[in-house]
Amino acid sequence: MQYESDERAIARAIEALADGETIDHGTARAIAAGFTDGGDTVNYSFVSTGAMPTDSDTPGADVLHSLYRGVDAQTLSASNEALLALDYYLEDREAAGDTDRVDGWSDMWVLKHVDRPHETGTLPDCFACDTED
Ligand SMILES: [Zn+2]
Repeated sequence: MQYESDERAIARAIEALADGETIDHGTARAIAAGFTDGGDTVNYSFVSTGAMPTDSDTPGADVLHSLYRGVDAQTLSASNEALLALDYYLEDREAAGDTDRVDGWSDMWVLKHVDRPHETGTLPDCFACDTED
């Protein structure tokens, strides 16, 4: 079965947010993973465990800035909405003091629908539709 691209799933997740809501862990991980170059430990640690830097006063900003490294301006601008959503997510966790590794993190990802255009909830064999019931 074919699933929609990460990019589309992320855009859909962001679109579905109501005012003041933030993205879930899996969506945050999928966004961050799109910027992983493997060489940055803050970025790597966040993508692999959900942990944010503990030796910092600004753990959220540290994670976000670690993603920007080595990324060109055009890519950053094209990913502006996703990065903004990630920024709110990180600020939320930072404000809650929730900067540790997250249980089950490595199994989390943005919810992806079957890649057959359909309204959410209308395709019986779509795993993502199923879990939204
Ligand atoms: Zn679906």
